[in-house]
Amino acid sequence: MKIYLDQEVFNKIMAFAAFTRDEFSGFGFCEVDKEADGIFVYDFEPLDIGNYVFTKISPEKILPLMSREDARNLKVWVHRHPMGNGIPGRHNWSGTDEDTITQEPLGSPPHFVLWSVSIVLTPKGLVGRIDKYKDGKVITKHLEVTPNIDSYHPTFAALEGERTKRLRAAEDERKILELADSMFDDFMDDLPEEYWDMDYAEAKGIIEHQAKDLVNFQPELMTEGAAHGSHQTHRDIRRQQTEHQSSWLRWYWSNRGDHAG
Ligand SMILES: [Zn+2]
Repeated sequence: MKIYLDQEVFNKIMAFAAFTRDEFSGFGFCEVDKEADGIFVYDFEPLDIGNYVFTKISPEKILPLMSREDARNLKVWVHRHPMGNGIPGRHNWSGTDEDTITQEPLGSPPHFVLWSVSIVLTPKGLVGRIDKYKDGKVITKHLEVTPNIDSYHPTFAALEGERTKRLRAAEDERKILELADSMFDDFMDDLPEEYWDMDYAEAKGIIEHQAKDLVNFQPELMTEGAAHGSHQTHRDIRRQQTEHQSSWLRWYWSNRGDHAG
């Protein structure tokens, strides 16, 4: 079972979401589509911005919807909030949402409504649910909504992936430079006299190269540390690395043929 949105309804919800950054709320009209095994939402009316509790939506706004010829299809509550991940399940619904849906669906007593559909726009997409009210009990089924923001255009996910990669690369670059700096400082401290005539630019180059290896290697070191039950901090590990690297560099410089030492 799925919730199908008419293209115009999807567009309208997305346009509303683009119009305001706040939470919003509205009502929708739907029909049961037995053939498609789902609920087809064919209309959506935005009712409120910055507020999503029905009881706070003024009756004058709801009344015209109630007076429509197809008022019996007024079964859908649509809202946006900043929680959830777009994968159907109860984690997408707040405690207030739960109370509203189970105790006062569409602003009415549950036994009046019989069943209701709710759709929420989470930061990662739309999710829905259908709730059936019978003999004081509520049966909830969490449903996928289509079309949706993540499935709507495959390029979106690809672009998001590229962005994540870019951010990660920039973060690695920052870590490398920071580590190279601290390694170079470490190396320069107590620098034995025989290295004073070395090529500092070359040394810095080598250190940056080593820092790059270390940054790429860090996750494994961290895991190893954790596996040994040690409570080494990132900083401890880094200190060990720089100590190791500066002694390695000293060895490198002292073993180069062109350095008399
Ligand atoms: Zn909510």
